[in-house]
Amino acid sequence: MGDFKHKHSLGQNFLKDKKVLIKIIDSVDVKEDDLIIEVGPGQGALTKYLKLFRANLRCYEIDKRVKKYLDSFIDEKTEIIYEDFLNVDLNKQVKDIKYNDLYVIANLPYYITTPIIEKIINSKIDVKAMVLMVQNEVADRLAAKPGSKDYGAITVYLNYYFDVEKLFVVNRNSFDPVPNVDSAVIKLARKDNKYQVNEDLFFKFVKDAFAMKRKNLKNNLSKYDLKLIEPILSKYNLTLQDRAEQVSLECFIEIVNNLSK
Ligand code: SAM
Repeated sequence: MGDFKHKHSLGQNFLKDKKVLIKIIDSVDVKEDDLIIEVGPGQGALTKYLKLFRANLRCYEIDKRVKKYLDSFIDEKTEIIYEDFLNVDLNKQVKDIKYNDLYVIANLPYYITTPIIEKIINSKIDVKAMVLMVQNEVADRLAAKPGSKDYGAITVYLNYYFDVEKLFVVNRNSFDPVPNVDSAVIKLARKDNKYQVNEDLFFKFVKDAFAMKRKNLKNNLSKYDLKLIEPILSKYNLTLQDRAEQVSLECFIEIVNNLSK
C-alpha cells in the first residue's frame, strides 16, 4: 500500500481480502450500544468494517506511522490509542465507557498472540466474545479437542472461560505482504456458567499435567496424591498411563476438586 514499509517485527501483514473481512464481521452480532476492542488496526482494513456496527470502538495500535490511515475513523464513538496493547491498563480504559456487551475483534500481530489473549483474560474485563485471526496452526491448538495432538495446557486454559471454535482458514495470499503460513479465524464465546474450582490449583495442576509432552500422567503428576487422581480418571475411561492430552476440562476440574477436598 503506497510506500509504507511494513515492519515484520510488528507482525504487519495487512488483510486485503474483502470476503474475509465480511466473514469476520458476519460471525458476531454486535449492537450499537456495545463496545468493540480492536488490537492492531494497522491501516484500518478491519476497522473500516467494524465501523459498520456503529458500536463504540477502541483500537490499540503500537505503530504511530499508520496515523494518517486511521485519523478518518475517529468520531464520538471511535478512539484510536497509540500504545503497546500489552502495556495498556484495560480495566481503567474500559471503565469510563458506557456499553452493554464487550467484544474483541482483531487480526492479531502473531508474535504476541498468546500474551494478548492472556492479557484480556487476566484483566477480567467481561468479554462476551472474541473473534481473532491467528496462525492456522495456533488456531488448531486453541480449538483442539481432547485426544488430538494439538490439545495442550493453553487449550484447557481457554476452554475454562470460552467455547472455542475454529471458524475458517484464511489463505496466506489474503495478506499484504504475504506471510509464510496460512491463518485462521477463531471465535471464543464466553461460557455462561462458571466452574466451581480452586483456580490457582487448577491452572497449576493443568500446567504440571502437560509439563513433559511425551510423559504420561503418572510421571508428570508424581508430586500429587495419585491415589486420589486414579478413580476420577477411571470414571472418564482413563488411567495414569495415559497422557494429559486425553484429559477433558471436566475431568481436570473433578480431579482438582478431589485433591482440594
Ligand atoms: N488490522 C490490520 C489488518 O487486518 O490489516 C492489521 C493487522 S496486522 C496482522 C497486526 C497489527 O498489530 C499491526 O498494525 C501492528 O503494527 C500492530 N501491533 C503489533 N504489536 C502491537 C502491540 N503490542 N500493540 C498494539 N498493536 C500492535
